[in-house]
Amino acid sequence: MIIDSHLHLDDRFDGTAMGAAQELNRQLEEADIVRGIVLQLETQPWSAEDVAEAISNFPRLCGFINVHPTGKNPERCLRDGVECLGYIGLKLHPRLQQFGVDDEQTIRLVRVAGEMSIPVLIDAFPDGTHLMQGFSPLKYAQLAMKCPETQIIWAHMGGHYVIDFMMLAKRLPNVYLDMSYSLLYYQASSIPKDMVYAMRSMKFKRIFYGSDYPDRPVASALEMSLQLLRIKGLSVEELSHVMGKNAQKFFLWDDL
Ligand SMILES: [Zn+2]
Repeated sequence: MIIDSHLHLDDRFDGTAMGAAQELNRQLEEADIVRGIVLQLETQPWSAEDVAEAISNFPRLCGFINVHPTGKNPERCLRDGVECLGYIGLKLHPRLQQFGVDDEQTIRLVRVAGEMSIPVLIDAFPDGTHLMQGFSPLKYAQLAMKCPETQIIWAHMGGHYVIDFMMLAKRLPNVYLDMSYSLLYYQASSIPKDMVYAMRSMKFKRIFYGSDYPDRPVASALEMSLQLLRIKGLSVEELSHVMGKNAQKFFLWDDL
């Protein structure tokens, strides 16, 4: 059973949220992926309402709403997104949305998510832009520490900071990691070895699979990731946890 916990709609598919959701559902079905988390993005050409409506047609798809912590009434946006539009989590993208990970307003919004019992997925990929903005694993740790009631997913396992993120996650029981993008982006480097080391060190718990589609087609991202993890020595049992069981347990999807 495979769950993809990090997906976006492809805004280059046919220009509509509906078309993009249909195409994503088709690709997931073809790859035998039982459920996927669609991360809405403010930077995409559709509203949170458009995306919610599009994905509501496909039981395989669940959404996280992207809210700006320093925008207009972020708490209301989040509550409406969950209560009226059916989103099941909050997506934060500090690099694209340009806000501080450990700012007071970010902490406030992430605490609200905890009060609402919904998880927060926060981008943690240190590309050049993010590094120049002052990317630091410590800021992610501060946020998690100040919001102990909120389950936080550090997307992309912190990229090449993966060992730092792992060491911090061990001290922060409310933190989870997704392997999306980083595993394949760094495939020719030493990073995937460190990522697998981190997974093993965490006993393959609190780690989720994600493809970051449309970065790559759903099926090829899955095939390449599985192949890489098998080469790095993951057993069938270990794979079953990171590829699906951990996410199933996290999202309480007993129906799968
Ligand atoms: Zn992403």
